[in-house]
Amino acid sequence: MKYHSTRANIKVDFTKSITTGLAENGGLYVPEHFPDLSYLKDNLVTDYQTFAKEFLKPFLAGSSLENKSSEIIKEALNFPLIYKNLNNNLSVLELFHGPTLSFKDFGARFLAQSLNALNKKHFILVATSGDTGSAVASSFSALENVNVVVLYPKGKISPRQEAQITCWSKNILAIAVDGVFDDCQLLVKQAFNDHWFINNLSLSTANSINIGRLLPQMSYYAYSAIKHYQKYQTNLNFVIPGGNLGNATACVYAKQLKLPIGNITIATNENKALVNYLESGKYQPNKTIQTLANAMDVGSPSNFERLKYLFDDFEKFKKNISAVSVSDQQIKQAILSGFNNFNYIMCPHTATAFYVAKLNNHTAQCVVATAEPSKFETIIEPIIKQVLPTPARLRALIERRQQNKNISPQLSELKLAIEATFFN
Ligand SMILES: *Cc1c(COP(=O)(O)O)cnc(C)c1O
Repeated sequence: MKYHSTRANIKVDFTKSITTGLAENGGLYVPEHFPDLSYLKDNLVTDYQTFAKEFLKPFLAGSSLENKSSEIIKEALNFPLIYKNLNNNLSVLELFHGPTLSFKDFGARFLAQSLNALNKKHFILVATSGDTGSAVASSFSALENVNVVVLYPKGKISPRQEAQITCWSKNILAIAVDGVFDDCQLLVKQAFNDHWFINNLSLSTANSINIGRLLPQMSYYAYSAIKHYQKYQTNLNFVIPGGNLGNATACVYAKQLKLPIGNITIATNENKALVNYLESGKYQPNKTIQTLANAMDVGSPSNFERLKYLFDDFEKFKKNISAVSVSDQQIKQAILSGFNNFNYIMCPHTATAFYVAKLNNHTAQCVVATAEPSKFETIIEPIIKQVLPTPARLRALIERRQQNKNISPQLSELKLAIEATFFN
């Protein structure tokens, strides 16, 4: 399998695509073709991990990691995937049973194990406003061949989120930047263009622009759709909460493999770039609006470029993807409705998808649940008027010893912090 850039005629293998992250002149790597994997729907499907090993093999084929794919998946996807029926028409695919309690553990752990399996030291530089940082830090913690620098805006993330970024082993350097998220992101961009960084560190990214994050995410859509098909002989429709659209793109890709996936609907919060595109045919990135579903507060979703590349024609795009924007008020309503009608508690991101699934309730819908609700207890508790228990694995993280450095948003300071930590 080769991966090529959305912007230029460059072809690379899996290893090269994940070590570089971004293709030249800002393009994103996408699979060169989508093999027909429809035979999988008639195979005996056992557990998710065994399935993922078989399913992901073609995507590593022809790269230096081909022979290590089973080992990578065994280490990376080592936590449960849970599918629940709420009623005949409504089900939930819970993706938050990994170490940092969001679906980002799937992608981050697979990328981490893949990079670590290469016989070379790599550096990951990542800016975060929350969930990505904790999933990435946790996934790479204590891995021998990769050092990670996580930049986050000082005082702008919750103490719980900060604890989950700053509690890992020595190869994870957590840096609180005096500034906002955009300052962190700008530092990452500057580093990728700076001689010292280019010459001294083998740099890559762990944001969802890295195809190594998207590939494993295809596997849970494939697995649950096949399980559903074998039981009911029908395709499974998904409603997916979308921010940067990585998770949704993974589902679109899985459907391209001729698996029994039905309609794909993306639920966004009030950041409407995708919804506006579907209405007007014009794509206009917007300034980010803050909402209750804050991990989806993205004004300019980076994976839109992958979707547009696949469905280059507007009519084709509309035929394959629908999207609905959900307001904060509707998020609250959905959280309350899930609790009252199904005794089901969900995070604000999952609530956007739940709201949209209820609108489409003439057909069966599977709501994709992206985070454990107790990560967002300050939002949920006042709505359901009940205290959420903190899961043991979240409590364990919060109680670990924390360590970080503090810098002003200057590349020279970032360089000094990295030297002091990793080159002494
Ligand atoms: C990151 C995140 C999302 C958005 O996922 P994308 O792949 O960026 O669209 C939704 N929910 C939660 C909890 C997240 O952490």
